[in-house]
Amino acid sequence: MSAQSWFDEGARLSVLTAEPIGRPLDYLAPEGGCFLGAFVEVPLGPRKVMGVVWGAGDGRFEAARLRSVYRVLDVPPMSEELRAFLIRMGEYTMTSLPAMLRLATRTPGLFDAPGARKVFRLGETLPDRMTDARERVLEVLRDHGGAGFYLGELAQAAGVTTQVVKGLAKAGALIEAEVPRDAPYPRLDPLRAGKALSDDQAQAAAALRESGGRFGTVLLKGVTGSGKTEVYLEAVAECLKRGRQALVLLPEIALTSEFLARVEERFGARPGEWHSGATQSERRRLWKMAALGEVQLVVGARSALFLPFRDLGLIVVDEEHDTSYKQEEGALYSARDMAVLRASYADAQVVLASATPSLESWVNAETGKYKRVDLAARFGASQLPDMRAIDMRDERIENVHWISPSLVGAVLDRISKGEQAMLFLNRRGYAPVTICRACGHQIGCDHCDARMVEHRFLKRLVCHQCGETKPIPTACPSCNVEGRLAPVGPGVERLAEEVAERFPDARVAVLSSDLFTTARALKDAIETIAQGGADIIIGTQIVAKGHNFPKLTLVGVIDADLGLQGSDLRAAERTFQLMRQVAGRAGRAEKPGVALLQTYQPEHPVIRAILGGDEEAFWRAEAAQREAQGVPPYGRMAGIILSGPEVQPLFEIGNDLARRTGPLQQIGAQVFGPAPAPIARVRGRHRVRLLVKADKSAPLQRALKAWVRQVKLPNQVRLQIDIDPQSFL
Ligand code: ADP
Ligand code: ZN
Repeated sequence: MSAQSWFDEGARLSVLTAEPIGRPLDYLAPEGGCFLGAFVEVPLGPRKVMGVVWGAGDGRFEAARLRSVYRVLDVPPMSEELRAFLIRMGEYTMTSLPAMLRLATRTPGLFDAPGARKVFRLGETLPDRMTDARERVLEVLRDHGGAGFYLGELAQAAGVTTQVVKGLAKAGALIEAEVPRDAPYPRLDPLRAGKALSDDQAQAAAALRESGGRFGTVLLKGVTGSGKTEVYLEAVAECLKRGRQALVLLPEIALTSEFLARVEERFGARPGEWHSGATQSERRRLWKMAALGEVQLVVGARSALFLPFRDLGLIVVDEEHDTSYKQEEGALYSARDMAVLRASYADAQVVLASATPSLESWVNAETGKYKRVDLAARFGASQLPDMRAIDMRDERIENVHWISPSLVGAVLDRISKGEQAMLFLNRRGYAPVTICRACGHQIGCDHCDARMVEHRFLKRLVCHQCGETKPIPTACPSCNVEGRLAPVGPGVERLAEEVAERFPDARVAVLSSDLFTTARALKDAIETIAQGGADIIIGTQIVAKGHNFPKLTLVGVIDADLGLQGSDLRAAERTFQLMRQVAGRAGRAEKPGVALLQTYQPEHPVIRAILGGDEEAFWRAEAAQREAQGVPPYGRMAGIILSGPEVQPLFEIGNDLARRTGPLQQIGAQVFGPAPAPIARVRGRHRVRLLVKADKSAPLQRALKAWVRQVKLPNQVRLQIDIDPQSFL
């Protein structure tokens, strides 16, 4: 390291804090000195805040005017690798350094003295008197209570006052325990034998092992059910044998439990878990153990990317195409891309696993930037499902019904054989639109440019943008006529009604994220289904993600055309991925499966590509089209979102920007807009967007910075830059 790495007492140093100041501030090193990267507590005005020693002070201020660092916190200093990553990612995503530091230290209680706090765990007895509030507390603990919750944390998670928690403790229903000193995780044993691999799998595993141990990215493309997990666990084993740490990112908490069980089976112990369902004390422990090198494997959501690993040797991004890897609020980033960036600093291997890779990754593999490893067949006897279209133009379907006679027949056939059928509709709720048959008014959200969706189960209308709910009115809010409001179109709840009517004897399960209040309830439902506890499964896109339902042999897609509308440049790619993933749920065990897609446009090139099964042809065609248009991954884009309470000033600023494009012209970039964003209002804030398109090699961020600096933002107006936008919200 060329920079100074130790500061003697009284030396000038600069400290980066997570406060929105923008730049590191100068201080004097505390008594006893400190390392570069040390986590410290510093005075800031009248407050004490956490910061990281970021470098030498710049000497601009007299030492006499500088204040001293209060104390060095009892955690290992931030590594050079993590600091370099945060700086580079901040530049790339145009996120300020303090905001980057917040990402890397988002663990409340991190700086508390260890072992000093009490947690609450589930007791043995139930209280004599049960109330709703008490029930909720117990529910939270039953769901993710293992490590225990801090008092405030538990009250908040259950939505009750701390008195309720204390009352339960007094009644013996909760146990108070001292948090043990943050303990190392049980050791995983990478030498234990894994499952016997098929030839294909063994070859793929060897390829991963061979390219491991250093920076490099492998696209592991394997059809659904080919055993990608088994294969990348071999890469994990190799990494652990080298004594380095591994990180596996999953797109969905609901998938974690199955994965944890597989890790335990493979390595004899459980890895560290990092996600929103983990308790604060657990996350604090994991953060520290990552820094100390006392956790070998971490499974987590995208924010696990910012953990202070001591020696990160491997990052696996499972289901790498999944849209949930894009963080769409606060700091805007793609966890997949940032995984590759972090790995480049950590000299780690990256494995991107998917049956339907993102076009970006596919192209990177084509051009040789990534290595590609394929698993072409399902593991064992299981076959890929046969995919066919149901041409809805030929089906005689009754009004207010959505399941075609052909699909009804296919479902009956499966359930009569004791197999399961799944009906997929990517729409939550009962009906997407509620219309007044008297005046034509459609009920919208008061705060968003979105229609309210009827949720009959909740007995409310819900805005899927902001979450606002209201009771279902009996009279039209526009014309006041009573009794003429009617639902239009199907959501999964309405589909469930039709299923009940058509298949009165079948056991039906509806899987939609909003029908489960806790991750555990969803997990239980999934397990019940996997064990055969339902004949017909109705689901939204949560069913498309990686679950194993061995008895499932038929997937019916209610509306395969749904994703094809809209101007999103990724519409075709997304539909292709979603349809193939959903279809991939069928026939994962011995019995072959079939997927039937209801469509009004079977000739549509995307539908034909989905059915044709020639995936490479689809990606090639899609890539050629993007290249011709100069859009990602062949060109670069940035979205500029202006938001504020009034729409007029947003357009004024937008137009101003659109006129003063000098800095962008210098790099040959084009500007489109301003235009109302596709979702023009969210939570009462209007949204206007511009789109910038540039060559792949152009220094886009620098130009954007110079460009937006030209305008002054009024109070209340926010300007956000989204580099590599994924959706066009
Ligand atoms: P993918 O992630 O590619 O969809 P999985 O890794 O989930 O596939 O594997 C699909 C199923 O096949 C799982 O139930 C898994 O346990 C099983 N499986 C895969 N490979 C093997 C193997 N080598 N030996 C035994 N079972 C395997
Ligand atoms: Zn809303």
